[in-house]
Amino acid sequence: MVILKFGGTSVRDAEWINKALEIVKSQLDRAPVMIVSAMGKTTDKLQEIAHLAEKGMREKADNIFQDLKEAHFSVIHSFLTNENLSSCLAAMDILFIELKSIIKGLSYLRECTPRSNDAILSFGELFSTTIIAHRAREIKIDTAFIDSREIIKTDDQFTHAVVDENVTHSCIRGKIKPQKGKLTVAQGFIASTKEGITTTLGRGGSDYTASIIGAACHAEEIQIWTDVDGIMSSDPRIIPKAKTVAEISYKEAAELAYFGARVIHPSTIQPAINLGIPVLVKNTGNPQSMGTRIIANGEGKDRSIGLLKAIAFKKGITIINITSYRMLLAYGFLRMIFDIFEKYKTSVDLVSTSEVSVSMTIDNTSQLESIEKDLKAAGNVSVENNLSIICLVGQGLWRDPQILSKVYGALDSIPIRMISLGASDTNLSFVVPDNEAENTIKCLHKVFFE
Ligand code: ASP
Repeated sequence: MVILKFGGTSVRDAEWINKALEIVKSQLDRAPVMIVSAMGKTTDKLQEIAHLAEKGMREKADNIFQDLKEAHFSVIHSFLTNENLSSCLAAMDILFIELKSIIKGLSYLRECTPRSNDAILSFGELFSTTIIAHRAREIKIDTAFIDSREIIKTDDQFTHAVVDENVTHSCIRGKIKPQKGKLTVAQGFIASTKEGITTTLGRGGSDYTASIIGAACHAEEIQIWTDVDGIMSSDPRIIPKAKTVAEISYKEAAELAYFGARVIHPSTIQPAINLGIPVLVKNTGNPQSMGTRIIANGEGKDRSIGLLKAIAFKKGITIINITSYRMLLAYGFLRMIFDIFEKYKTSVDLVSTSEVSVSMTIDNTSQLESIEKDLKAAGNVSVENNLSIICLVGQGLWRDPQILSKVYGALDSIPIRMISLGASDTNLSFVVPDNEAENTIKCLHKVFFE
């Protein structure tokens, strides 16, 4: 069997739902299970409703409710007929009546606990899957509808509930019966406690749902359908010639996620990767494009190891330098410094040390003044702002002895301020001035990819 997960943009209206179902239809012989997000920006709107209800602003909440209802019903009327239409309208009416009474109750009480918040947000996925299952039947796909709250079991940490894997796996295996020629549709993101109270897995949690179900059913593949061609070799807004990365390891994808590659959050696909199930990121708007295949670390074709996969960057970085001759041959010095960062809950990214000095980068400068003050007890402190980290991502990059000379050759006029080499086998990071970041990326992309 195969899992196909469609994000909100991939099911944003009738046209896109049709595209998604075409994709699913072409894979019916692989016993597909379709995991779906809420349509478009529905979850954001539901979140707004929850906030308004909490403030007792019933009228405004009702207006957004009405907009949501109209948007969903217009999709239904645009592509359903006869029994499919009446059955879908009946199911949706029940959902909207339920949502309306929750909004009413919360507005009266002027409260919205995390538990109520989850109850409200869950409707987005219930709406989308109800519509999609009916549309699938309308176009003659034999379809089973599953309520994910009956299969994904969590604790009661509402808004970011933790999945009980054992119970969940047996519920999934009991309820989902993948079959060739038949489609199963279920919601991403939503789940329930063992008492049956609705929970959610955290915003963007549908990838995680897909991964859990894929792992429980030993899927041959998990496909994440989104609105981009996959993971790109660099930011296409800066590098128009950026290419889709054909294959990337889990570790490499994790490095890129830190640099803001928002295509997929690696932790959400961990259950699948742990079992060696490949995850394919594809574009619903361009299904012919090959997409990106995410595989377990160290797997895949040998030729993919040792290759540069992508160049990422992060602007607005600050370097803090500490120099102290007390550091010479002393121990406990670094611990003292890191304790200060811990005290101010500020994470350090790159670190470079010599016998008498340490340089570190941070991107969150909200506590910088206090950190600087405390660090002065350790030595002379200087701070440099307006910098960018440039990160070359590729597992085993160092098997190519040419790589450093290629990097330095490409950047002969750009000052490199700090470099982190060898700390990870997956990346080479260095720091350049913010105003040189884009130029740096362009030069490197040219040398390595064009
Ligand atoms: N609909 C949820 C959200 O927007 C979950 C998801 O799409 O993954 O966060």
